[in-house]
Amino acid sequence: MEWGGYRCHAMETCRFILDGGAMFGVVPKSLWERKIPADDKNRIPLIARSLLLRGHGRTILVDTGCGTKFSEKELAIYGVTHIQSLDDSLTNYDLTPADITDVILTHLHFDHAGGTTYLQGEEVVPTFPNATYYTQRRQLHWAKNPTLRDRASFLVENWAPLEKSGQLRVLNGNELPLTNIELLFSDGHTCGQQLPLIKDTDSALLYCGDLIPTSAHIPIAWGMGYDNQPLVIMAEKEATLARAVKENWTLFFEHDPAICAVTLKEGRKGITQDQVVAI
Ligand SMILES: [Zn+2]
Repeated sequence: MEWGGYRCHAMETCRFILDGGAMFGVVPKSLWERKIPADDKNRIPLIARSLLLRGHGRTILVDTGCGTKFSEKELAIYGVTHIQSLDDSLTNYDLTPADITDVILTHLHFDHAGGTTYLQGEEVVPTFPNATYYTQRRQLHWAKNPTLRDRASFLVENWAPLEKSGQLRVLNGNELPLTNIELLFSDGHTCGQQLPLIKDTDSALLYCGDLIPTSAHIPIAWGMGYDNQPLVIMAEKEATLARAVKENWTLFFEHDPAICAVTLKEGRKGITQDQVVAI
């Protein structure tokens, strides 16, 4: 599908499993397990789904999944499997990491920024040698000074090699130099999360990152236990969904194991999912 002059493709990078209760915060299990069933350890399957945009002379990747730097122990803890890796997904489009011109990082948690770098022998180096990587200044500051709450999600090897190679472009707000892509900002999950909105004439595609990680998280009160500021993210989600309905956006989900993207409708129950969209 196309938005804003870009051919848009969902790119699976890895699958993993997390505690279902942590993924749904205060929502009772009797409700969330109807959306995503849990295994016998109460864990639910998730995906790390990047977005590939090709157009205007650029080959852009949004987020990079967990990457390949985890030890056997860490792979087991998070149940990470690479049935289809980011490399496999790129190969499907006859691309190699060297073809990527730009990498937009929503935020620096390891399941979003883990694929920015990889182990070359003993050294951690950038995965995409010709790309500019974009993060927000407030997010980078937060990552370097994490709270106890999300310290485990920020791993310095996911950004320090990019700073060293000069490939990390630190943005102050809406400074992305890419045609037809606006950034939306959200602080509720982590400070300075940026979400790319690919704008067309009368529609748009929003990469929802961890503002709305799965289709089950569309209801305003369905947040994650991982969110740093639950009330803030509720207000951000409400405003985003209102604009999404008004401006005919399709929502792209990074972590939904089954549904990649949906359109929305407004009815008696507020704003809910309408059509499932294949991207
Ligand atoms: Zn996150």
